[in-house]
Amino acid sequence: MVDKYDPQEIERKWQRRWAEDGLYEVTEDSAKPKWYALTMFPYTSGDLHIGHWYAMAPSDVHARFKRMQGYNVLHPMGFDAFGLPAENAAISRGIHPFTWTMQNIENMRRQLKSIGAIYDWSREVFTCLPEYYKWTQWFFLKLYESGLAYRGKAPVNWCPHCQTVLANEQVVGEGFCERCGAAVSRRDLEQWFFRITNYADELMEHIGIDWPERIKIMQRNWVGKSVGTEISFALDHPGVDGREIRVFTTRPDTVFGVTFMVLAPEHPLVAELTSPDKRAEVEEYVARSQRQTEIERLSTEREKDGVFIGAYVVNRLNGERVPIWVADYVLLGYGTGVVMGVPAHDERDFAFAKRYNLPIRVVIAPPGRRGEELEEAYTEPGTMVNSGQFDGLPSRQGIEAISDFLEEKGWGKRAVTYRLRDWLISRQRYWGAPIPMIYCPDCGIVPVPEEDLPVLLPEDAEFKPTGESPLKYHEQFVNTTCPRCGVPAKRETDTMDTFMCSSWYFLRYASPDCDNAPFDAERVRYWLPVDLYTGGAEHAVMHLFYARFFIKALRDMGLVDFDEPFSRLFNQGVIIVERQKMSKSRGNVITPDEYVSELGADAVRAYLMFVAPWEQGGEWDDSGISGISRWFNRVWNLVAGGYEQKITGLVLKRLKGEQIDIEQAERQLSRLTHQTIRKVTDDLERLRFNTMLAALMEFTNYLARVKEEGAVGVSDWKEAIDTLLLLLAPTAPHLAEELWQQTGHSYSIHNQSWPKWDEELAKDEEITLVIQVNGKLRDRIMAPASMTEAGAKQAALESQRVKAYLEGKEVINIVYVPGRLVNLVVR
Ligand SMILES: [Zn+2]
Ligand SMILES: [Zn+2]
Repeated sequence: MVDKYDPQEIERKWQRRWAEDGLYEVTEDSAKPKWYALTMFPYTSGDLHIGHWYAMAPSDVHARFKRMQGYNVLHPMGFDAFGLPAENAAISRGIHPFTWTMQNIENMRRQLKSIGAIYDWSREVFTCLPEYYKWTQWFFLKLYESGLAYRGKAPVNWCPHCQTVLANEQVVGEGFCERCGAAVSRRDLEQWFFRITNYADELMEHIGIDWPERIKIMQRNWVGKSVGTEISFALDHPGVDGREIRVFTTRPDTVFGVTFMVLAPEHPLVAELTSPDKRAEVEEYVARSQRQTEIERLSTEREKDGVFIGAYVVNRLNGERVPIWVADYVLLGYGTGVVMGVPAHDERDFAFAKRYNLPIRVVIAPPGRRGEELEEAYTEPGTMVNSGQFDGLPSRQGIEAISDFLEEKGWGKRAVTYRLRDWLISRQRYWGAPIPMIYCPDCGIVPVPEEDLPVLLPEDAEFKPTGESPLKYHEQFVNTTCPRCGVPAKRETDTMDTFMCSSWYFLRYASPDCDNAPFDAERVRYWLPVDLYTGGAEHAVMHLFYARFFIKALRDMGLVDFDEPFSRLFNQGVIIVERQKMSKSRGNVITPDEYVSELGADAVRAYLMFVAPWEQGGEWDDSGISGISRWFNRVWNLVAGGYEQKITGLVLKRLKGEQIDIEQAERQLSRLTHQTIRKVTDDLERLRFNTMLAALMEFTNYLARVKEEGAVGVSDWKEAIDTLLLLLAPTAPHLAEELWQQTGHSYSIHNQSWPKWDEELAKDEEITLVIQVNGKLRDRIMAPASMTEAGAKQAALESQRVKAYLEGKEVINIVYVPGRLVNLVVR
């Protein structure tokens, strides 16, 4: 028996025992309902900081709670182990990414074990091991077979002087080659894509899942669906075969206000249409825009500029010639890569027209306008003017009328566009899963046969970034034979985006030992979908989006039978230190290890949950965690020190004239016990950890008073203490286990059922409140014993019976006798 609260000793002892007994290992054959609780697996960056614990400890508390509620809980852990940071760190340290990654995993696993979580370590998954990435490659083949993977062109950085592709980090300043200083341009390279756009509509919907509204909105915006009309403008240009330029717009009602047309710099028509006298200027502009990133081009801060290319299109609705410009705020990937300029009714077009003195023609009149010049674009609905036969129509009707007219004439059609583009998964880097494809001079693209998987990542590749895949220079890897015809062929040398690895890891946990398939269908059917997924909101349009696409694609292949991978999503906030985000460069990173070795994992767990509502995050403060540690010491002293019923204490109080009766004290203890169960259960269901802990602290303080007074029977005391330990078990699993044993219970507290509350016992005690008017009894009302003075006075004034006696009178005084009566003195 340990006679003092010593977290080191207790935590070491119980962690060893739980591991030896395999207490938290789970199997599928269980009569219990399943609960799959998942925390986003960490990237193998080196050390776990307190932010990782903030993601993991509260979700473990919730998983433990569900376990005690009788669920068969799967709460696995693993490592997201491929990717650029490992490669970069390995390069800067001169060690192999595999070595670096595995060292980090060792250290992080040790740290994770110190949390005391219920992770089933027998299901650990690393994405960088061949037994895992074999199946990542297998999924690639399945997507390819289903027509969801294809090769297409995508731009990469190209140095015209060095004649080579550059990695992003080799492009410095505003787009210059790191080696030679030449201006970097963009060049198209054949790369692999997934047709995520096939699922655009379904990805906008979040049917039957409980996700935070803001994440759903971010995903919908990411898909960026717009419903509008495609309008054909007539083109008549010598030497150009095309007879039209098509433009997508959501505002066809403004088509009479078009005063210019803008092409994206990459648009193939730019070179064809540019007039000889403009050629030099346009080419220079196009070259400059290729050095800008899309983000720079779309920045709202930046002034929009462009160049007239010396050509025109005709607006078929009014027969006007419209000048064509090139401007880099238009991107080829969005819509048709052409925008119609309607300066009167679009802010960006307005600024552009002002800058280049282009006409601004109002075609939607704001209510009450008298022809004055616009000072800014008018983007609201209004009445159509300067629009020929459509004049006088409300603009909303105009959208339909113009679209009908265009469709009749064959000059356009209603259309839908998306902002979402296909998922580019090729990476010209080493530390990733090789894409399992072969290029044969005779057969073309040939997938690696399933039985030849995995395509192993060679260990001895030179992996310094060049912008081209390091595997390209690995002769043994590149050269192979065609699986179809047997002639010498070459392997694909790009590796996969690591978001591909993390799009299915939650399936692997269901059956990590499965070696003839990525997962065992039966076991996945049992565990999936994930019941509660927790992690940072920064993954909204990356991991969380890709994983949803993945599951929908697998569903359509018949591999899984559900639509969404994560039934409930919860995003925790961020822990800050000295009002700033933790970062290595600021030197304010808090590592949990020192706190764990000083105050114990239980204290770190509890403090993180107490600091603020989980979804908000809060500030780490050393004095706060000491407060938690003191609370645990109080719990220790309360429980480990035993309990004695002190009748003498009661007698003394009675002598002082205070009314303490044992029955009432016991009733009160039982009431508070059941109220605490109700509150803690409710808070845990809603992941409100901070208020859950506040309730437990309050309960502890109350028990300390009871103990001092010695005013309840031993069995009531025991019931209250057992309840406290059970309610504390998810938060402080080691402390609760130790005290459970010390109070004579059998191992393990974590196999106990979650306590239930009795609604009757939890009810606030009721008293009869007598209401008098000028000393005469006028009403009796039932009120909770905890009612405040203000509450009692208000209840008296609101009594229907009393009101009759107050008619036409003035209340000049209210006398209140706590718990008994209210006397209204009236005149
Ligand atoms: Zn260069
Ligand atoms: Zn072949």
